Amino acid sequence: MSKINSLQLYIGGEWVNSTSGETFQSNNPAKPTQILGVFQKGNKEDVDRAVETAERAFEKWSETPAPKRGLVLLKTAQLLRENKEKLARGVTMEMGKVIREARGDVQEAIDIAEYMAGEGRRLFGFTTPSELEKKFCMTLRMPIGICGLITPWNFPIAIPAWKIMTALICGNTIVFKPSSETPLCATRLVQMLELAGLPKGVLNMVIGPGDDVGMRIVKHPRVRAISFTGHKNTGALILQKAGLKRVGLEMGGKNGIIVMDDADLNLAVDGVIWGGYGTTGQRCTAASRVIVHKEIKEKFEIALVDRIKKLKIGNGLNPDTDVAPLISKAAQEKCARYTAIGKREGARLLVGGKIPKMEGFYFEPTLFTKCSIDMRITQEEIFGPIVSIISVGDMEESIEVMNSIEYGLSSAIYTRDINRALEAIMKIEAGIVYINSSTIGAEVHLPFGGIKHTGIGAREGGIEGINEFSETKTVYIDYSEKLQKAQIDHDFSLI
Ligand code: NDP
Repeated sequence: MSKINSLQLYIGGEWVNSTSGETFQSNNPAKPTQILGVFQKGNKEDVDRAVETAERAFEKWSETPAPKRGLVLLKTAQLLRENKEKLARGVTMEMGKVIREARGDVQEAIDIAEYMAGEGRRLFGFTTPSELEKKFCMTLRMPIGICGLITPWNFPIAIPAWKIMTALICGNTIVFKPSSETPLCATRLVQMLELAGLPKGVLNMVIGPGDDVGMRIVKHPRVRAISFTGHKNTGALILQKAGLKRVGLEMGGKNGIIVMDDADLNLAVDGVIWGGYGTTGQRCTAASRVIVHKEIKEKFEIALVDRIKKLKIGNGLNPDTDVAPLISKAAQEKCARYTAIGKREGARLLVGGKIPKMEGFYFEPTLFTKCSIDMRITQEEIFGPIVSIISVGDMEESIEVMNSIEYGLSSAIYTRDINRALEAIMKIEAGIVYINSSTIGAEVHLPFGGIKHTGIGAREGGIEGINEFSETKTVYIDYSEKLQKAQIDHDFSLI
């Protein structure tokens, strides 16, 4: 076992240098001059090595009974729990997230490991009657083979864990490429799995640039499935280049919260603060649009602005911090650019909009009002602490506005009217709908994912996650001792 701060690639159960020997650094977005580690920069050859070792490990791992595979996951969950605080601090230092949210990131990894360990005792197929006599029909779940997992930086432990634990319990072997922004968190997660006793070669990690390492995984002929989470444009490229593989894509969002005139306004303000500014708006499920009934708009805006002004910007390690830094200078500049775009488009800036004068990639929590659905700030994913208010006259209009975007991930409505809540559940075009709760807060035993340009492929989490990482095999057993032909030998005269 290598030291916990090993900064190498993980191939065939060994911590190794990249074939090029090139390195890169990971920095702290709250103190950009602080280097957290120097990492081996993988390349195409390293991916090929990883695929070979994953291929060698496949037979044994796929034949290991699933409940036994689950024991490795349970042990990993235990190690994650024991190291939770240390791992959470790592998340905060590498991506900036406030420490209490970083603990949530690690907890989510623990939850999915435990959940998927339990799935190892189910992995249900089904049995069903045959249309013919003395014939038995059932389905089995089979592993797919080598799965390529490509992940973003915004949940640097949780998102890799969702994919890794599910792929493992289904009996697959893995080539994992984490984001180059968060290689330290990824390394620590892999070290937990190594310590838990995962056999060599079952999980391989190649850190390196997406267009080199990521694309080689996508195109590799022996990788059977790709599971990707990240930006819409990257996902579209992956879909185009993957060839005849299974591809699961979890992409961006432009999620909305509807606040009706009968809503509990304090609760709705809480929801917008958490949805819009939690994780500095850097969640695929972040709420960047608030669709407010015109009767309560003024009152709601006053309450919201008051709360935003009280949010504390600062280093995520400080327990009082509400809004931590963005991931990078590029992300900070993007927020400034979109603020300028919003002003030019005619939206009214109510609060925020500036880069504060402090070290780190911070941006003020920002709120625009008088927004409309044809503005870029209400259509495009900014991935920062910028929220737009759109005023509507009735329920029907609120749904129209909610659905006026290319994405369909998460959504929420605040209302005390059951009919309006049901209307929203049925008509909102999104993978997730919350009633009187914010747009964020996925639980691992439920399916997670979106529609439209947010998602293609099966959902992650719960039983649908198992669907993403397994193949269904259909089995017919004929014990009639004669040739029976389906559709042909069936006696239709009975009906
Ligand atoms: P990116 O798409 O930039 O990167 C995601 C991963 O893809 C990284 O590991 C990246 O590598 C890799 N990558 C980049 N280019 C390629 C390529 N040509 N071929 C293969 N892989 C490539 O997204 P971000 O990391 O910036 O993450 C933010 C995005 O993720 C947002 O749009 C957000 O909405 C979305 N997201 C969606 C979620 C969902 O469940 N729907 C959840 C969380 C985030 P590298 O960066 O190292 O070069």
